[in-house]
Amino acid sequence: MEKTLVLIKPDALADGHSGDIIKRYEAEGFKLVALKLMRMTRSIAAKHYAEHIGRPYYDGLVEFMTSAPLIAMVLEGENVIARVREINGATNPANAAEGTIRKLYARDNTKNAVHASDRPSSAAREIAIFFSELEQF
Ligand code: ADP
Ligand code: MG
Repeated sequence: MEKTLVLIKPDALADGHSGDIIKRYEAEGFKLVALKLMRMTRSIAAKHYAEHIGRPYYDGLVEFMTSAPLIAMVLEGENVIARVREINGATNPANAAEGTIRKLYARDNTKNAVHASDRPSSAAREIAIFFSELEQF
């Protein structure tokens, strides 16, 4: 079964939206197979966001993602990678469709509430950054 890495970013955790976000994924039929509250280090950020190094928003992104705790999770289900990205909405909440998590909860283009893997190779790579085999069920 397909899996994806989801992060509830520091803004959404601090704003008290974690429960509603997790509830939404479960209501859509996805199964939680790993979950933890943690702080992203600069070293984890450099691995996780490797393809963004050098972009104009990169330093601000790392500053934000390492500023406070986040929730990391792995969700499992049919077509979960594409479906979770639809549920999350566009990167910039100003462009996110009604009812998406980013439309509901994101603060801005960087503090945009959630991360989700964008393709199977990213999902496998990102899950391995955040979770050991023993932490996945
Ligand atoms: P997504 O999270 O939708 O997959 P990207 O992979 O393109 O988006 O970017 C990773 C993260 O970097 C975004 O979620 C957002 O936090 C930040 N980001 C991307 N583009 C911008 C931008 N133009 N300005 C500010 N932050 C950005
Ligand atoms: Mg991305």
